[in-house]
Amino acid sequence: MNLSNNAKIGIIGGGPAGAMAGFFLLEMAQRVDWDITVDIYEPRDFNRFGPPGCNMCAGVVSENLVQTLAAEGIDLPLQVVQRGIESYILHTSALPTVSINTPSDDLRIATVYRGAGPRESAGDSSWESFDGYLLNLAKKRGVNVINKRVDDIFFKDGLPQIHCKSSETKTYDLLIGAVGVNASILKKFTTLGFSYEKPPVKKGFVSEIYLGESVVQEYLGGSMHIFLLDIPGLKFAAIIPKVEYVTISLMGEGINKTLVEEFMNSKEVRSCLPDSLNWHFKEKEIDIGQACFCMPNLNVGPAVKPYGDRIVMIGDCAVSRLYKDGIGAAYITAKASVVTALFFGVSSDDFKKHYAPVCQRIAYDNIIGNFIFIITMLYQKFKLFSGGMVAMVIKEQSQPNLNRRMSRILWDTFTGSATYREIFIKSFHPLFIISLVSSTVSAFFFRLFKKR
Ligand SMILES: Cc1cc2nc3c(=O)[nH]c(=O)nc-3n(C[C@H](O)[C@H](O)[C@H](O)COP(=O)(O)OP(=O)(O)OC[C@H]3O[C@@H](n4cnc5c(N)ncnc54)[C@H](O)[C@@H]3O)c2cc1C
Repeated sequence: MNLSNNAKIGIIGGGPAGAMAGFFLLEMAQRVDWDITVDIYEPRDFNRFGPPGCNMCAGVVSENLVQTLAAEGIDLPLQVVQRGIESYILHTSALPTVSINTPSDDLRIATVYRGAGPRESAGDSSWESFDGYLLNLAKKRGVNVINKRVDDIFFKDGLPQIHCKSSETKTYDLLIGAVGVNASILKKFTTLGFSYEKPPVKKGFVSEIYLGESVVQEYLGGSMHIFLLDIPGLKFAAIIPKVEYVTISLMGEGINKTLVEEFMNSKEVRSCLPDSLNWHFKEKEIDIGQACFCMPNLNVGPAVKPYGDRIVMIGDCAVSRLYKDGIGAAYITAKASVVTALFFGVSSDDFKKHYAPVCQRIAYDNIIGNFIFIITMLYQKFKLFSGGMVAMVIKEQSQPNLNRRMSRILWDTFTGSATYREIFIKSFHPLFIISLVSSTVSAFFFRLFKKR
C-alpha cells in the first residue's frame, strides 16, 4: 500500500505535530519530484490573543531542539523564540535556593508563546505565535490550511474521509491525526476499527500573568525558577520569565485548584513574586486581575497502536516525553510518520515496522523518566536527601573547575536537553555517587550540629 504522485493527505490538527508533518511532507515530496496535496484542518486562529489562539503549554524549548529544527529548514526568528534564560533557580521545601547555570551553550533553554500572547497583551506584545509561525511555514511550502474543525471521520472503500460542518466530505489516501489530547474528536479515532486507544492523561496547569518588565526583572531576573516542593500530587512546577509576563506551569498527578492555591501561597513561591499577588480562584477566574490560566490535559503515556491502514496518529495523541519537551516529541513523531508514509508505505504493517519503533523508544525512555521522578519525589520528601543534593549543587556552582555532575543531571531532568536514559546513565557514574554520598553525610552532620 503506497502513496503515489498526486496523493492526497489530510492532517487533522495544526499544532506543532500537524504543522511539522505538513511541512515535511511537501519538503520531502518536492525532493523526489512528487506533486502531492496536503490539507491541514485547524480551527484555531493563532493570531488571536488569550485562550482562543493558544495551545496551552509552558512554552519552554531546548536550544537543542531550536538547532535541530533550524537544520531541518525551520528557522525560528527572534519574535518567536526568545533566548536569554541561562540559569535556573531550584527551590526545595525549607532549604536554601540554588542557582544552576547553563552547562554549555547548546544546552540553553528558550521560550515561546503558543498563541499570540496572553489575554491582556492584546495589541502590545512583542511575541509571535510559535504554532502560528509553524503553520504559516507549512502554508508557504504549499499546504492548504483549512480553518475548520473536523466533525467526523470515517473510512469508505478503504480510504479515509474527513467531514466538516457545512462543507463537502473529502477523501484522502492518508489521514494523519495530530489533534493533541484535549480534543473531543480523539474519541472518534478509537471507533475507526484500527485498535487505537487514547494515551493516558493527567491535568496540568498553566497561567500567564502580567507583571511588567521591571517587576519581572526585579523578582525573577533572567532565570527560570523550578520548584520541587513537598506537595502531594505535584511532580514539579516552574515559573518562567517572559519579558513583561511570567508563565506558571504545574505538572503532576493531582493538579487541581486546591493544589494550585497551596502552591501559589507557599512561602517558596511567595518569595519570588510580588506581595501584592494574592492568588485565589473565583468561579472561573482568578482574583489577581491581569492573568489567564488553563488546566489542559497532559500526555503521561503512550497510545495503543497509533496507526492502521492509511491512518497514523502523531504528537501528543500518539506519544510524548514525560513532563518535558512535548514539542520535541511532536517533531520526532511527525518526521518519522512522514518518512514512513513517503518512502515505505501507508499500510498498518509499514507503520508497525518503521514508525512504531520510534514511538516505542520515547515510551521506553519515559519508563526510565518515571523512575527518575520517583527518586526526585523521595528527594522532595526527605530533607536528608534534598540537603545533600542542594549541598552538592552549591559546591559545584561555586567551584568553576569542578565537574558539575549533579547540576547537569538536574538541568537535563527539567529541560528537554537530554533523554531520561542519558540522565540515568550519568547518575550511575561512580564519582557522582561518591560525591552525593559525601555531600549527604556532610549536610546531615551540619544540620545535626546546627540543631544543638
Ligand atoms: C501544563 C503543560 C505544560 C507544558 N509545557 C511544555 C513545555 O514547556 N515545552 C514543551 O515542549 N511541551 C510542553 N507541554 C506539552 C506540549 O504542549 C505538547 O506536547 C504539544 O503541544 C503537542 O503538540 P501536538 O501538535 O501533538 O498537539 P496540540 O498542540 O494539542 O495541537 C493539536 C491541534 O489540533 C487541533 N484540533 C483539535 N481538534 C480538532 C478538530 N476536531 N479539527 C481540527 N483540528 C483540531 C487543535 O486546535 C490544536 O491546534 C506542556 C503541556 C502541558 C499540559
